[in-house]
Amino acid sequence: MVTVEVDPGRVESRLAAGGIGCPTCRDGVLGGWGYARIRQVEGLSDPVRPRRARCRACLVTHVLLPVTVLLRRAYAAERIWTALTARAEGAGHRRIGMMLGVPAATVRGWLRRAAQRLEVIRSWFLGVAVTAGVDVRIPDGSGCPWRDVLAAVATASAAIGFRFGAAGLGGAVTPARVAVAASGGRLLAPEWPPPRG
Ligand SMILES: [Zn+2]
Repeated sequence: MVTVEVDPGRVESRLAAGGIGCPTCRDGVLGGWGYARIRQVEGLSDPVRPRRARCRACLVTHVLLPVTVLLRRAYAAERIWTALTARAEGAGHRRIGMMLGVPAATVRGWLRRAAQRLEVIRSWFLGVAVTAGVDVRIPDGSGCPWRDVLAAVATASAAIGFRFGAAGLGGAVTPARVAVAASGGRLLAPEWPPPRG
């Protein structure tokens, strides 16, 4: 799975130009290889039809997932991120669910998964910020692990926005998109984060 920009035209031209590297072998580049199943994502106006691609060197296939969605989640990443933000501001899953029009049990699932890995998420995004940025100031702990995660993702977003400009993620650099792109769509997936290497 590879995270890509939202605009399918840009994804096609990058594929055609050999501009998307293979995450498996890290030598080859990906070429178009059909499409994955079309998905309806709550919170996005159009259905998502992810491009599939195959490495020209190692022949492994990958799904190219746009930065607006998280792996195996039926809701737009922006909505999930809004829920995590509301939790950091003190709201509970029922209130967040009502606010976003999402079943409370679904919100509870997101919050539980995030709660198990707040410190890991925080240090991952601080690592991203330090890698992308120049003289990045690491935010002090606030005493609330949820708010610390938001601060870390905001720091990473600022560093990425500064380095790559507003078009760095193929559109606006929002914390939600940074959270997707920098986790490879796996922010709430069981196998994330990978061991640092
Ligand atoms: Zn490869």
